[in-house]
Formats: sequence, structure tokens, C-alpha cells
Amino acid sequence: LVEDPVLEMVGVRAAYGAIEVLKGVDLTVPAGTVFAVLGPNGGGKTTTMRVASGLMPTTAGELRLSGRNVTGITATEASRLGVCSIPEGRGIFANLTVRENLWVATGTGTRLEAIEEAAYARFPKLGERRHQLAGSMSGGEQQMLALSRALGTDPAVLLLDELSMGLAPMIVSQMYDIVGGLAAEGISILVAEQFARVVLPIADTAALMLGGRVVKVGPPADIEDELSTTYLGG
Ligand code: ATP
Repeated sequence: LVEDPVLEMVGVRAAYGAIEVLKGVDLTVPAGTVFAVLGPNGGGKTTTMRVASGLMPTTAGELRLSGRNVTGITATEASRLGVCSIPEGRGIFANLTVRENLWVATGTGTRLEAIEEAAYARFPKLGERRHQLAGSMSGGEQQMLALSRALGTDPAVLLLDELSMGLAPMIVSQMYDIVGGLAAEGISILVAEQFARVVLPIADTAALMLGGRVVKVGPPADIEDELSTTYLGG
């Protein structure tokens, strides 16, 4: 028996008003793998993530979660089905402490202790800063918090948009190492990233997205070749 992919898009189209920005996107994220969506700004990466998280409706095609057609799902329903996204800009509350930000992830606060414990075990820095305002921490620490908060929801699928944004290169590769580890723990990961080089090492599959279409998909090495010859101009 072959397990259904955790997340799948088939011929997905999406538009902002009259402007169609996804023009038939196909992608498949098997369980416990990292799928990287690469390409320059404006190609449709963020919109793809928004569709996957239920934040944006499709105009055609299908969104499937674990083989089930969930096209038209709301963001709330998607999160109930285990889809969790860290948006561009991380979505943490700058004026709340680390602890309070983690508390927000639990909804009711009943699982706070377990979530905190897991977060501090994974990122000891966060433990040291548990009473510090999130907005006063470094970009890397904020991203650790955003990841911890997402993990607090016990996600099946994690959607990461431009994890590298505003972070020093060394922090970015540390973050992606952690993301690779999450996939090894069984979490499926869809990541949009403009800087291919930082994510290719941990990706199982990569897709190059241009003009609202996936123009190439395959093993990271193939996509890296494609990136350097076409999009990066050799
Ligand atoms: P980025 O890395 O900048 O987010 P991207 O590849 O993720 O780029 P999208 O953000 O998905 O691309 O944008 C795809 C296209 O849709 C772009 O041409 C953009 O200008 C357009 N677009 C994005 N958001 C809106 C909006 N709210 N209204 C109208 N057009 C939009």
C-alpha cells in the first residue's frame, strides 16, 4: 500500500481579482519530505503557500490533503487538518514575550508546559529568553520562536515562506538544518525560497516556479543545474 502524499496540488489556478497569478500549479509533497519551491520574486511562490494554507481560494484545480480533495477549505479547517504555516515575516507578536508567544500557539494554554519544554529543548536560547519580548530578539531567535510556535500545533505539514528573509547566512543554514531534521521526524514541509542554495541541501524535491507555473520539478541537483543555466544566466 502506497501512502497518499500529505499535500498535493493539481492544476491549481488562483487570481487576485482579474489578475491570474497561478496558472496551473502541480506539486506533490510525500510524507516526511521537504519540497522546495524556488524562483525569483513574483513567480507565485507566496500565492502557492497561501493556497496550500487555505488563505486563498483557487479558481480551478484541486488541493488535496492526504489524498482527500479539500479544495475550497478555509484556513481554520486547514489548520485543524494539520497544516501550519509560518508566513513571510514570521508572524510572531513583537510585544509579547517568548513564553506568551508560545502560549498563543496552544489556543487554550493547557498544553503550554509541554510546548515550552519542547521548544526550549530544541532551542536552548529561547529558554534563556523566555521572559524577553520577542521583538527585542535577533532575527534568528525570532525565527526559532516562529518554528517552535508552529511545532506547538503538532503539524502534519509545515509551510515556510522565505525563511531566509532578513537573516544572516549562517543562521539561515542553521535554520534549514533544523527544518531538515523536522522532515526526518515525519513532518512534511513545503518551503518557498528565493535563495535556492540555502534550501537545496535539505530538499528532497525542488520546483522552479516562473510566471505562475512550475516549469521544472525534480531532484535538487537537476533543479540546481536548471537554476544556474537559465534563471541565473549561467
Ligand atoms: P515574493 O517572493 O515576492 O513573495 P512570489 O514568487 O512569492 O514573490 P507572489 O507573491 O505569489 O510571488 O506574487 C505573484 C504575483 O501576484 C506577482 O506578480 C504579484 O505582483 C501578484 N500579487 C501578489 N499579491 C497580490 C495582491 N494582493 N494583489 C494583486 N496582485 C498580487
